[in-house]
Amino acid sequence: MFKLAHNILPASAVQGLTAVYFKTNAWCQLGSRPHSSQGRIAYKAMKILVLPALSDNYMYLLMDESSKNAAIVDPVDPKTVLEAVKEVGANLTTVLTTHHHWDHAGGNEDLVKTCSQPLQVLGGDDRIGALTQKVSHGDTLKVGNIDVKCLFTPCHTQGHICYYVTSPDTDQPAVFTGDTLFLGGCGKFFEGKPEEMHRALIDVLGSLPDNTHVYCGHEYAKNNLSFGLHVEPNNPTIQAKFNWVLEQRAQGRPSVPSTIKEEKEINPFMRVNEEPVKQHTGCTDPIMVMGSLRREKDSWKPPK
Ligand SMILES: [Zn+2]
Repeated sequence: MFKLAHNILPASAVQGLTAVYFKTNAWCQLGSRPHSSQGRIAYKAMKILVLPALSDNYMYLLMDESSKNAAIVDPVDPKTVLEAVKEVGANLTTVLTTHHHWDHAGGNEDLVKTCSQPLQVLGGDDRIGALTQKVSHGDTLKVGNIDVKCLFTPCHTQGHICYYVTSPDTDQPAVFTGDTLFLGGCGKFFEGKPEEMHRALIDVLGSLPDNTHVYCGHEYAKNNLSFGLHVEPNNPTIQAKFNWVLEQRAQGRPSVPSTIKEEKEINPFMRVNEEPVKQHTGCTDPIMVMGSLRREKDSWKPPK
């Protein structure tokens, strides 16, 4: 639908249409309720607030405890962001945009307009609204004492960036993965090829420390792990995580964060070198396995 609209309407009208689509979709599914409760993960020197938005998106407020300086990841709902900023007494300086899709970048312009101070808006794609600094692989920046490293992970879109964060005051890293890596799954290959997702998941994100906390862009864990069990019905680690996610979701709690180590154990798209996953696809080359899994998942429906 959006491709067709793109061809016949000006960009601003397409943005408006997209906004209406996502907001209506969320309203039809949830009414005025958020899809999950907010989460607050306190590390030694930093805090991450999990802010649900639309029907299944997550925004994340990352705050350095010593300076109170903060960054917001994918602020599609500026009102909720500014309320959270006020509640924790943060000094919001930076917007980290993972990619240009409306449900991630669609709040940038409004946030910049309504925030009382100037914001630095980062992203890896000229299609991102209110962008002040285009970043590429390996670029670094500071949010207070927190170090942020940009990881270029094109495939879902050609300008997708993940943000890896560390702090000299804690040994607990975290990564914001947008629509590249989900808990138990990965984003659709809208603008890329299996080899690009293979590079993003196996070479780039797969090289991060095992204990890295993974904060993804959507609450898709239940569906993803259900697909994981379809691929590997005899994998007890996937089954255990699936059971845990069912409990969390029954209580409206977010399933994030997972860890890189966990993803290597439960996520078929990070397990393309494992024998049972190869066997399921009938392929041996890991890039072919990646492509085959994605094609199957694109039309797969979980059992009722
Ligand atoms: Zn997307």
